[in-house]
Amino acid sequence: MKLRKDAIWFDDKIRDIQSQFSDYLEAKTQLKPREETLKIIALYVFIGGLWILLSDMVLSFLVRDPDMLIQLGTYKGWFYVALTGLIFYFIIYEKINLFKKAVDKIFEGFEDLSAAHEELLAMDEELIHQFDEIEKHRNALMISDQRYELAVEGANDGIWDWDLESDNYFFSLKGKGSFGYDDTEIPNRHDSWKQLLHPEDREKAVKLIESYLASQSGIYESTYRLKCKDGGYRWILSRGKGIWDKEGHPVRVAGSHTDITEYMELQERLYQEKELYQNIIHGAAVFILGVDTEGRIFEFNPFAEKLTGYTKNEVLGTKWFDMFIPQENRKQTDEIIQAILRGETIQNQENQVVTREGRRVDILWNNSVFRDSKGTILGIIAMGTDITERKAMESKLMSLAYYDGLTNLPNRQMFEKILKKQILQAKTNEKKLALLYLDLDNFKKINDTLGHHYGDKLLQGIADGLRATMKEGMNISRLSGDEFAVILPNVMDAKTFHSEVIAIMEAINKSWVIEGNELYITSSVGIAIYPDDGQDVQALLKNADTAMYAAKENEKNSFAFYTPEMHEKSLNFFNMEMDLRNALMNKEFILYYQPLINLSTGKIIGVEALIRWLHPERGMVPPNDFIPFAEESGAIIHIGEWVIQEACRQLKNWYNMELPQIYISVNLSARQIRQQDLIEKIIHITEEMGVDGRNLLFEITENVALHDLRQSIHTLNMLRSMNMRVALDDFGTGYSSLNYLKKLPIDMIKIDRSFVRDITEHLDERFIAKTIIDLAHNMDVIVTAEGIETETQYKILQEYGCDFGQGYLFSKPVPAEEIEKLLLRDKKIDN
Ligand code: C2E
Ligand code: MG
Ligand code: MG
Repeated sequence: MKLRKDAIWFDDKIRDIQSQFSDYLEAKTQLKPREETLKIIALYVFIGGLWILLSDMVLSFLVRDPDMLIQLGTYKGWFYVALTGLIFYFIIYEKINLFKKAVDKIFEGFEDLSAAHEELLAMDEELIHQFDEIEKHRNALMISDQRYELAVEGANDGIWDWDLESDNYFFSLKGKGSFGYDDTEIPNRHDSWKQLLHPEDREKAVKLIESYLASQSGIYESTYRLKCKDGGYRWILSRGKGIWDKEGHPVRVAGSHTDITEYMELQERLYQEKELYQNIIHGAAVFILGVDTEGRIFEFNPFAEKLTGYTKNEVLGTKWFDMFIPQENRKQTDEIIQAILRGETIQNQENQVVTREGRRVDILWNNSVFRDSKGTILGIIAMGTDITERKAMESKLMSLAYYDGLTNLPNRQMFEKILKKQILQAKTNEKKLALLYLDLDNFKKINDTLGHHYGDKLLQGIADGLRATMKEGMNISRLSGDEFAVILPNVMDAKTFHSEVIAIMEAINKSWVIEGNELYITSSVGIAIYPDDGQDVQALLKNADTAMYAAKENEKNSFAFYTPEMHEKSLNFFNMEMDLRNALMNKEFILYYQPLINLSTGKIIGVEALIRWLHPERGMVPPNDFIPFAEESGAIIHIGEWVIQEACRQLKNWYNMELPQIYISVNLSARQIRQQDLIEKIIHITEEMGVDGRNLLFEITENVALHDLRQSIHTLNMLRSMNMRVALDDFGTGYSSLNYLKKLPIDMIKIDRSFVRDITEHLDERFIAKTIIDLAHNMDVIVTAEGIETETQYKILQEYGCDFGQGYLFSKPVPAEEIEKLLLRDKKIDN
């Protein structure tokens, strides 16, 4: 601005000086020294000439007097001098005056000039300074121009310039990059720009520039797409500034074009990603939760809202813990969160969440940390699945798998887990624990005789009773049918938990009334102590079981502590089972025979074949010591078959010896009754041996018969159809019901020796024996009394009309030769 003022002032000054000088120049043109001098001289010569010619003439004409003429000639000379002097005075004065004026003007001009010179000097300095400035600016501008050019080029940006007066619209981008237009292809007109606009953006973009131009101020900014040569479009950010004339008409707008296609695409991708992420969050049927490092909620999706009953707005910014985690789980959950924030991966983590109504839902979480672009952890994004139903199902399955359905007590698997845990605890605390193995005495009989339904009720009652005796830390499980186990932790010695054992046994050992039936039940308990009797679950269980068997054997309704001797005994049993497999092959079995006496005649009417095992090391093993194992292992089938064969062989032998005709009775075990080909085998043997079926009697115990009544009836009927006879052994020991007795096709009952034993002392037993005999006779069934040891017993039974008898009074079970002697004796008596 200043520069411009200076220039104007300088112009004026020059013009001023020029106008002054024109005066001098004019004066200079007037000042022609030679000509002026010649003019003056010529004038002088002319006037002088004229004067000389005319004055003398006039004077001579006028004055004729010579003197006068001479006089007047002198006067005329002086007049001439005066006149010419006057003329010259004016001429010279004028010229000198003009010269003076010129000199004055020159002087004035000089003064002005020197003032102007001063000014000019100052201005020159100023100009130099300004020139420097301009130069600097120019350089800066050049650099910035270059910079701009580089920036614009490098950034694939451009400039645009619209001269509205000429409608010249130029934009540099059109030839560049993706636009790729030739110079001439797109006319530099504003319309061309409009044509290149994307149809969707055109209206808006045109309106925007128009409204900017109308606004007459500010910065123009607009975003739109422009068409490229290849038909594609690129996003442009256009910015610019306008110039308006005095009337407010826009004259020119120019600015920059920035290609923001990549940015817009990125923005679009970001938008789409955001949309996608929002859709997932909104639509996902999982609990999506975002918490910052302080545990404050920043994301809470609709599923979470639905599940918890809280809205997102309600929970945003609140602490996740305070709002949703049950008090007792907060510490643990906090530890997990801290671990995740430290960068540890913790997946499939379960916890409970409390809903608005206070309901607890189980959630399975998958967590991931949420970071900013620098990798700083901002929080946690957790996705949770509602596993409440699954958990319920699991616990149901768990209870099915680990709890007994009937009594709801832990089952064997669960018990083993519990015991394992308790052992570990005892080990850590250096404490002892007691394992009680409980077995109900004769429960099988209850089940067999009164039915499973009845047995189940009893078991439930017992389980409830046992549960009631449990003190803190104690644990009770049902191991199998009638077996229970109790764990007593922290025991010092046997005395300290004696009362607990008694309480437990008393909970069982009492009379039970179930569905109107009263019965008395007892139990046997085996006790093993950790660590004395075993270090692990299996050893403890095995030893408590062994102790339980010992208790049972000893006397039912008792308890026994495990001792190493028991182990030895059970080891013996184990070995026996092994030996049993080879006994038949090694011909270690023999049959003893015990005579059956006709109580009225005193004669042998038959013998009962009773097996003996001549063990190479143990000596003679009684059947009660190995039959149960043989039964369990299945060896009884082959052993039983051998017994039948051997008995028949013996019978045939006696025939051949022409001894008195007797029958042989053979005991059948439960397995044999169920044996499919038993009858076939018997037919085969009898035919092979040539034995008359009439001389064979088969004994089955009451319990065996009742255990599988239908099968028993079938087998017994088959035997009887072959004229063989059938006896019900050990009658009175089971829960025999007369109803069953009626159904069974039997020829004989054998009163158990427990009745016979007490018959002499107890009136009750005597009465029972009498009743049984009468009942049997009423049903046409022969009665044999077992275990007659005394004459008195014999007498009483004889008196009651008991048909046959068997017992040490007559003979113990003896080898066949002994029987032969007895038979021979009878034969002699007969003869
Ligand atoms: P059981 O069939 O009731 O046999 C009678 C048992 O009573 C025999 O015992 C016999 O020795 C015993 N006994 C007989 N009279 C008296 C007496 O006056 N006083 C005493 N205290 N006992 C007497 P054993 O031979 O030890 O047989 C026991 C059980 O073993 C038998 O009872 C029978 O159930 C079973 N048994 C024996 N041999 C066989 C066999 O070959 N097969 C099957 N399945 N079981 C058999
Ligand atoms: Mg018998
Ligand atoms: Mg018997």
